[in-house]
Amino acid sequence: MKKHFSELHDTVIAQGLCARCGVCAGICPAGVIDFNAEYFPVLKGECISCGFCSRCCPGADVNFPALSRAVNDTRYDPGDLEGYTENNFVGHPLDNEVRYAGASGGLVTGLLTYLLETGKIDGAVVVGPDPDHPYRTKGVLATTVEDIKKAAQSKYCVTPSMEVLQKIRKKKGKFAIVALPCQIHGLRKIAEVDPKLSGKIACIFGLYCTCTMNPEGHLEAMQAAGVKKEDVARFDFRGGGWPGGMHVVNKNKSTTALHVQEAFGTVINVMFRLFGAKRCYLCIDGLAEYADLSFGDFWAFDYPDEYSKLERCTLVSQRTPQGLKILRDAEADGAVILHHLPGKRVSKRILAMVQAKRTRARVYFRARKRKNQLVPDYHFPIPDATFHDKKKNVSYALLGKFRGPLGRKIIMAILFSPIGSFLHKLNRKRQKTFSDYHDN
Ligand SMILES: Cc1cc2nc3c(=O)[nH]c(=O)nc-3n(C[C@H](O)[C@H](O)[C@H](O)COP(=O)(O)OP(=O)(O)OC[C@H]3O[C@@H](n4cnc5c(N)ncnc54)[C@H](O)[C@@H]3O)c2cc1C
Repeated sequence: MKKHFSELHDTVIAQGLCARCGVCAGICPAGVIDFNAEYFPVLKGECISCGFCSRCCPGADVNFPALSRAVNDTRYDPGDLEGYTENNFVGHPLDNEVRYAGASGGLVTGLLTYLLETGKIDGAVVVGPDPDHPYRTKGVLATTVEDIKKAAQSKYCVTPSMEVLQKIRKKKGKFAIVALPCQIHGLRKIAEVDPKLSGKIACIFGLYCTCTMNPEGHLEAMQAAGVKKEDVARFDFRGGGWPGGMHVVNKNKSTTALHVQEAFGTVINVMFRLFGAKRCYLCIDGLAEYADLSFGDFWAFDYPDEYSKLERCTLVSQRTPQGLKILRDAEADGAVILHHLPGKRVSKRILAMVQAKRTRARVYFRARKRKNQLVPDYHFPIPDATFHDKKKNVSYALLGKFRGPLGRKIIMAILFSPIGSFLHKLNRKRQKTFSDYHDN
């Protein structure tokens, strides 16, 4: 059935269900979908009514049972927090420069450079700094090792990086794609709609994901800390030593740490509550369940024995045979070091993150239904939020009251005041005391 872009607009964007993943712009054969300043898709030319954008969009419809069958030949189990997993590994690249430049242990960048150098891929879709505005993020088709390295590090703000599929469409070869769970839901739909484009995807590297921020989040933090946009040479979401925090390198080489967002404890990330993208609040996939490999932070102190010493590493869930081959080849060729984690052992912290993400989704599903607003259809019932769920989600409800411009200004002013610095120091002390945590 032919569908105009207006269908996507009416059923997803106007309903508040757009994930701003960029898949619609990437898949559009006419290349006429662009973004507004907040990264919501807009039509910039003549729509050919092919319907590709609506059919690949993960905003309003993600068929989890069908994805489980198609990707893993398995039955979807809504109670399984980790998703279908064949093995868990913890590892890092041998190249120390790549390892220490990464968000966790640099494994994603290490594997991508390995795949490119060995000719297994011709490029990778990653997220780098916008060349014109280094404090903004942008999807990049990296075709050199330098490009891949430049895009290391996690960007915790909405970036419709799947728009880069447009470039892949015009190129020959095979490409790796680094993507968040919502983006992977869209990418997997492409197989049915545009098999030629889908056939160019060599592998999908997913990132565990608790939430992304609206694009203004880190800009308002910069403003509160007195950093001017024009002075920024580089913005890191995880800079200043692992695990890191928002961090600016100024053009005059001085640095400004914006770590105060952790003032209330790492479990309550103020930024995700003040600036979290609303569609993220309805997402239930915390661990990129339909990637070939999904990557997250490895919290060594969560593990006993020899694992507790493995700091500055990335945790990886291997979900497909293709993912296993990539890991084994890279290991055999001496590009990465991997430690197998016996059984299903992603860390307590990671499981708590997924649990919290699903609790949040139940609460926001309920809230939207009560207002007669649409919710995404995941093709299995989302249980109604309980009183306990609401209690667990209370920090979102409370800080949610400050999401307006004035409220954000007040919270930012507190965070960047001496009170914020004091709370931040207290939190660091708490981390070290209670978690036997030592950063480097
Ligand atoms: C929004 C977001 C939320 C996350 N939440 C969690 C969490 O709750 N728990 C957890 O354990 N891990 C989380 N992660 C993953 C974690 O931060 C690391 O990205 C992951 O462990 C890989 O680390 P690395 O050092 O191996 O990757 P690196 O070697 O640093 O490479 C990271 C790769 O990801 C790409 N990338 C960065 N940001 C994005 C983005 N927004 N969209 C698509 N690609 C991107 C980069 O371009 C780079 O290629 C999150 C990541 C993001 C981007």
